[in-house]
Amino acid sequence: MAEITGNCLCGEVTFKLANDFQQFHLCHCSQCQKATGSAHASNLFTAPDNIEWLSGQAHIVRYDLPGRTISNAFCTKCGSPVPYVSQSGQALVVPAGSLNQTPDMTPRSHIFWPERAAWYDQAQEAERFDAFPE
Ligand SMILES: [Zn+2]
Ligand SMILES: [Zn+2]
Repeated sequence: MAEITGNCLCGEVTFKLANDFQQFHLCHCSQCQKATGSAHASNLFTAPDNIEWLSGQAHIVRYDLPGRTISNAFCTKCGSPVPYVSQSGQALVVPAGSLNQTPDMTPRSHIFWPERAAWYDQAQEAERFDAFPE
């Protein structure tokens, strides 16, 4: 099984895991919008023991939303989401953007679709630029 590596924005937290994912959801729920500051979370799911932390584990803080099975884990230096084990203990949730190589699966579903940002559909039609517009 090929390995895939990941890290946070500042580079303190680094990890590797087998490129072996069972699910890939784009979650549009309002909690994921808050947790990511964006339109949706892009989370891959793999076995809970499929991770080897290489550095920076002491920088990770985990947040579990009271009364809900929603969690977030992030680097306290740069705020980037990093992998965490789900509250059920049955999956490792891996933010797709934290990975350095292409995962072995593509997104399978948009979940909590009715909660998507009011501007999400229009965003698909927005003009494309290679960088900031002139
Ligand atoms: Zn960081
Ligand atoms: Zn969500």
